[in-house]
Amino acid sequence: MIIQLNKNIESGENLQLEQTLAQQNIPFYPVNTQLGEYIICTPNQDFDIRKIGQLKGIKDVHRVNGTHKMVSNKWKVKRSKIDVGDGIEIGAGEMTIMAGPCSIEDESQIIKTVEQLKKNGVKIMRGGVYKPRTSPYSFRGHGMEGLKMFHKVCQANDIKIITEVMETGQIDAMAPYVDIFQVGARNSQNFNLLEALGQIDKPVMIKRGISGSIDELLYSAEYVFKNGNEKLILCERGIRTYEKAYRNTLDLNAVPILKEKSHLPVIVDPSHGIGLRKHIVPMTLASMASGADGVIIEMHETPEKAATDGQQTIDYSEFNSLMGKLNTLSGVLNGWYN
Ligand code: PEP
Ligand code: MN
Repeated sequence: MIIQLNKNIESGENLQLEQTLAQQNIPFYPVNTQLGEYIICTPNQDFDIRKIGQLKGIKDVHRVNGTHKMVSNKWKVKRSKIDVGDGIEIGAGEMTIMAGPCSIEDESQIIKTVEQLKKNGVKIMRGGVYKPRTSPYSFRGHGMEGLKMFHKVCQANDIKIITEVMETGQIDAMAPYVDIFQVGARNSQNFNLLEALGQIDKPVMIKRGISGSIDELLYSAEYVFKNGNEKLILCERGIRTYEKAYRNTLDLNAVPILKEKSHLPVIVDPSHGIGLRKHIVPMTLASMASGADGVIIEMHETPEKAATDGQQTIDYSEFNSLMGKLNTLSGVLNGWYN
């Protein structure tokens, strides 16, 4: 059960509600986000929600029996739109494109990427400054110095930034320079990181774990929401299977299933999903056709020279051609999934 509280609920009314729940032996968890106040209840037996609905200070009561609560679409009639600032919203019906290099390398790379994005009307640039790498000897990103450079160029060009945060200790320093925090596949179940991201007022995109189930991804989002941040985006980025013909198995089944279970927007990452440059275009189109709210793509001037993930990175001309195809597709898809 989810109880939505009135914005200006009085403390006496709140107390009465909590006492009623306690008398009925119903475990409850207050959740205060930037957008609302809620109480999540996990009653052990069937409970007449009218007993709560009658109390003062309550906006609405919803029966949400499944294991996921705040991220479930059983209580939200409308899908969530995530406000990234300056009129940019994710999940509002328009295709969201985020593109850029796997890693931020230098200033000229950022300037050239921004140029490509602007030319195509893309408003969000990706680029890692803290890179999770399988080998400790690989390039691990330029850290805060890289992020500041990234921010300087993007801010001057009205481009928003999505970048990965790897640990709780990085959040405060990064926050002024970041528009969307990405939680990478390897950190998908780093519950301390998820809780800490619940305490900030910035959108968070959570990638599905390398061997993560859909349920686990939803629980990860639930962690962030429960801790106070409901600006959440889910990301399908492929999972590890027995198949060795490509880097990961891009699970596009996840798109309609996540959208059936949750009100949160769903982004697909075909770059990591298939991991093969020459197949990024069809898998991006397939991602959109499966009902995704958008895609995140790795793009570089010279992919073969990219510091990381060059094998799955498209070049500028491939990106421009992909954008043309996406525009055509967007005309076809218009309204199909709304
Ligand atoms: C990335 O976006 O470059 C990245 C490391 O992604 P993932 O966490 O999905 O591997
Ligand atoms: Mn990458």
